[in-house]
Amino acid sequence: MSPRRIAIVGAGYAGIAAAVELVRGGAAVTLLDANRTAGGRARRVEYRGAVLDNGQHILLGAYRQTLALMKAVGAPANALRAHRLAIHYPGTLELAAPSLPAPLHLAAALATARGLGFMERSAAFALAFAIRRAEEAAREGETVADFLGRHDQPERVRRLLWEPLCVAALNTPAERADARVFSRVLCDALTRTRADSDLLLPAFDLSSLLPDPAIAWLGERGTKIQLGTRVMALARTAGGWRLSTSEGPREFDAVVCATAPYEASSLLGSVPTLAPLAARISAIAHEPITTVYLQYDSRVHLPFPMTGVEDGHAQWLFDREALGGARGLVAAVISASHAQAALDHDVLATAVHREVERLGGTLDPPRWTKVITEKRATFACTPGAWRPAADTGAPGLALAGDYTEGPYPATLEAAVASGLRAARNLLETS
Ligand SMILES: Cc1cc2nc3c(=O)[nH]c(=O)nc-3n(C[C@H](O)[C@H](O)[C@H](O)COP(=O)(O)OP(=O)(O)OC[C@H]3O[C@@H](n4cnc5c(N)ncnc54)[C@H](O)[C@@H]3O)c2cc1C
Repeated sequence: MSPRRIAIVGAGYAGIAAAVELVRGGAAVTLLDANRTAGGRARRVEYRGAVLDNGQHILLGAYRQTLALMKAVGAPANALRAHRLAIHYPGTLELAAPSLPAPLHLAAALATARGLGFMERSAAFALAFAIRRAEEAAREGETVADFLGRHDQPERVRRLLWEPLCVAALNTPAERADARVFSRVLCDALTRTRADSDLLLPAFDLSSLLPDPAIAWLGERGTKIQLGTRVMALARTAGGWRLSTSEGPREFDAVVCATAPYEASSLLGSVPTLAPLAARISAIAHEPITTVYLQYDSRVHLPFPMTGVEDGHAQWLFDREALGGARGLVAAVISASHAQAALDHDVLATAVHREVERLGGTLDPPRWTKVITEKRATFACTPGAWRPAADTGAPGLALAGDYTEGPYPATLEAAVASGLRAARNLLETS
């Protein structure tokens, strides 16, 4: 019997994961992406000779499926630098987890945190203890703000600890974020093993981290890789699916639609029976993320690889040199950046430059700056936000992507897990 021909639309982290799993399952895979650079919302961007990303990303030690996939496709072992859990707001809060087994590392980090009083540390510890049972700690329909209130978290602990972690992990502010998802992420990252809480900072650009090695791995196993090919519509045929692509029509036995939700809704909308599903997906709300790059003189360093900013436009500043990138390059991350996305780029970059100066005194202005806003970076992770299943109900058509049903917010781990799920769904129904 000849292997099933399966098309994967989208070479982001979800599509890549689906492709690898389907190849392992014996399928004949074709991977298509409209973009010439693989990686989707986690991809390399080149600017003025510098290698940047469309947005600074952080992974966690708890991202088991992403880490296993990177290993399986031969991604370089030094592609991620592990930093022990630490939060630095210079002059305000210093918290660092020592090398102890979980959850002692967290208890010690809170006990020795500088900038929190005894009551504040105790309250934070009580919450960290409660989230060991993530499902019970948060209530159905509860926002993170209500959850923190119910767990008596003092204002400083909310503002310096939980709220920044919430917006960084869920890309949704605490007043609107889903407490169940938040407590699940905290539970997985903080309470199981110490290594789960490690912050894994990419030393390579985001396309080189997983998509490029995966594409090389897939190519060696006969996968057809068609970057720069847009899929415009899907149509059911007697035995499978016809894809209308920018390179002409293609026929397959099955398809994984691994695009972002706003693109999935237009593809599914081309299939009459899937119009209701397409309409629900198109109603998914999104949150933006802005990254401001500032290229300083090569002697400029930040005090830590990742430094928190209090009361700024930026929430976190990353020293790209300390992460293995260009010298003097700083990346400022602004999650849920509705207000900043509306600002003129020069105005925003100048304001962030002043925030960098707060760390170490006056600096010469950056040589260049680059502001990248992803307006629909992630779905808004609000209580009860609907997420579609991998199974579309149409035979041989599965959905993958960070927005599909799963325990995590829109993250690389959610994307990879969704790709694996969609692939298994098709393999099981063959
Ligand atoms: C700025 C920013 C910062 C982030 N920070 C973090 C972080 O720190 N940690 C973390 O874990 N996650 C982070 N995320 C989230 C993470 O990047 C996403 O969850 C993940 O990349 C989504 O992957 P995906 O494969 O589901 O979708 P996508 O990456 O969107 O992939 C979809 C692919 O489909 C292709 N495509 C779409 N339509 C078509 C079509 N019609 N034909 C052919 N191809 C098509 C697109 O070109 C794209 O390559 C961040 C996201 C952004 C934008």
